[in-house]
Amino acid sequence: MIKRLHKSVGVYIDMGNQFLKNILPEWMWKSEHYSGSPLRIGIPRMFFYYIYPNLWETFFSELGMEPVVSGPSTKKTVEKASQISETEHCLPNKLFDAHLAELVGKVDMVFVPRVLSTIKNHLSCPKFGPLPDAARADIARGTEVLSIDIDETRRPLSKTLLLLGKKLNIQKSKTLPAIKSAFSAMESANKKMVMLNKKKGKPRFLLIGHPYIIHDNFIAGPILSKLENMGVAVELISFADDTPATSYILWGTANKIYHKLNTLSREDYEGVIQITVFNCGCDSELSRDNIPREEKEIWGTVTTRLYASE
Ligand code: SF4
Repeated sequence: MIKRLHKSVGVYIDMGNQFLKNILPEWMWKSEHYSGSPLRIGIPRMFFYYIYPNLWETFFSELGMEPVVSGPSTKKTVEKASQISETEHCLPNKLFDAHLAELVGKVDMVFVPRVLSTIKNHLSCPKFGPLPDAARADIARGTEVLSIDIDETRRPLSKTLLLLGKKLNIQKSKTLPAIKSAFSAMESANKKMVMLNKKKGKPRFLLIGHPYIIHDNFIAGPILSKLENMGVAVELISFADDTPATSYILWGTANKIYHKLNTLSREDYEGVIQITVFNCGCDSELSRDNIPREEKEIWGTVTTRLYASE
């Protein structure tokens, strides 16, 4: 179990014990909170939390840390976001800032990876790249920000987790089983996330959108409840399979969505519902107007665009 250091260790460090500095990771000797309780690591409930469901909580807790996930999005999260976040950010980025702010002061460090690519040879949204730097410079200033590059084009996720363990000064023999458990937890979570409303029969719709949009309580929750009340069965698009799809689109999520639209059969669904959010460049490319005419006619896509004020 990773424990916060006892005060005495801090004293040795203050005295300039280079030996400890050399053997301990930076976050340990920098920590101002020395106690015997497990280290609390904050995970904002946005972006990578939904892209890799259950992975981070399982990984950190298997390593002996205490993962603390920010609460589900509510109206208060949106209000907080509108106070602290950049006006031109997309709605999920605004919510991310509010989730991060919720954790600051309550945990020993926050986890904000730099997500560059989640599918080999594909790119993630450029908004993900600066998140750790923005966190350090602004909302999480003064709090330790643990980060790692997630770039599946350069290296598989398992290697990234191994490096993350190394960063935390954990032995490989302990990190490897944690990776195994984390992957298996993510696999089960992915299976559960697909079918929200298991009602058999029709009408049955496919809901498409970025994972952190269609699984966010505040953004998609009311739409899903309304559909359920109307007796409409809804299946959420799955991003579990990370093999590159056949599509010219390089943007990871859009590639998956586009591929799914291209491989649907008329018998599968009555139609497709797309939830898109304010200021998403990727979604504007995928929106109703840009879906090829013949597909639009077949699937009757309904697009719902959400703004922070709604
Ligand atoms: S893909 Fe769209 S919604 Fe997602 S972070 Fe980028 S701009 Fe925001």
